[in-house]
Amino acid sequence: MEKFELDLNQEALARRKTKNPSDKKNQISLMRVYCKGCGLCVDICPTGTLQLEDNHESKYGTSARIDAPEYCIGCEMCEMRCPDFAIFVNYEEKTG
Ligand code: SF4
Ligand code: SF4
Repeated sequence: MEKFELDLNQEALARRKTKNPSDKKNQISLMRVYCKGCGLCVDICPTGTLQLEDNHESKYGTSARIDAPEYCIGCEMCEMRCPDFAIFVNYEEKTG
């Protein structure tokens, strides 16, 4: 993984450390076959839910990974930012 991608991961983890797990149960779907590993979703996620990991079959040699789904607040920023329609979020209110 390139330094740029490692830095993205570190920044995302630093953001996560400032948050608490979400009180919502959101479902994130990542279609790895469409993910080229650009890292835009990792960069924009306000809670550091996503990380990049090595994937030598993708365009940039990485793919996004849903690393800590319990931190997802369902903002859908990743979905709106992804240029390849590779990630989707079902926002769900927590019940009970
Ligand atoms: S919906 Fe928001 S909080 Fe959840 S993974 Fe996407 S950008 Fe992060
Ligand atoms: S923005 Fe889309 S293509 Fe880029 S790493 Fe995230 S899921 Fe993959």
